[in-house]
Amino acid sequence: MSNKNCILIIEDEATIRNFMSNSLTANGYKTITAKDGQQALVMISSYRPDVILLDLGLPDMDGMNIIKSVREWSLVPIIVVSARGMETDKVKALDLGADDYVTKPFGTSELLARIRSALRHWQMRKDSNIAEMGSFKSGDLEIDFDKRRVTVRGEVVHLTQNEYKIVAILSKYAGKVMTYDYIIKEIWGPYTKGDNQILRVNMANIRRKIEDNPSEPRYIITEVGVGYRMTEEDE
Ligand code: CA
Repeated sequence: MSNKNCILIIEDEATIRNFMSNSLTANGYKTITAKDGQQALVMISSYRPDVILLDLGLPDMDGMNIIKSVREWSLVPIIVVSARGMETDKVKALDLGADDYVTKPFGTSELLARIRSALRHWQMRKDSNIAEMGSFKSGDLEIDFDKRRVTVRGEVVHLTQNEYKIVAILSKYAGKVMTYDYIIKEIWGPYTKGDNQILRVNMANIRRKIEDNPSEPRYIITEVGVGYRMTEEDE
């Protein structure tokens, strides 16, 4: 992957903005910064960054409006930078089309992992329309999409149809958090009431079948109050 990717950092707090910019520059990225929403919108259209890091709490506008506005014309990856305890904001941002989020305070390695993941997904989307990938691998977990078969260390795992569909969706978007609502609508249809209970039951069964220790999952991570994330091979 090219290290010349350009990252736009939208953040009103100078300390955080500089920290992020310095960390990313040190890791081979080019960075540009905006301290408010107006400036950000101008920079997005004139510089066409490869990834946008977006603080939701900006002085002149709600960061949600930036997501809406950008999604009208571009699929550039948007990673929301959000304060802890703002789960409803995270869900709303993801549903508006943000790709991911990091929670403040965060470390450089987490930020870099989220950026790599976003760039990878974007590249995949540009290369193909994520035509069926054929197979997926993370650690000892393998999924063969053609055969609809899941194995752990070569042993076939017997999943119900819905359990398989959940695992397949999460692995297709590995590294990206999928909201409870999104998964429920994908599996049980658009008119399903947003009840997480049935999804939680399915997830408990999936974890019992694929995880060595279901209470400390290694493959499917819970993002509390938001959804689930399948881990990528390099995580
Ligand atoms: Ca802020």
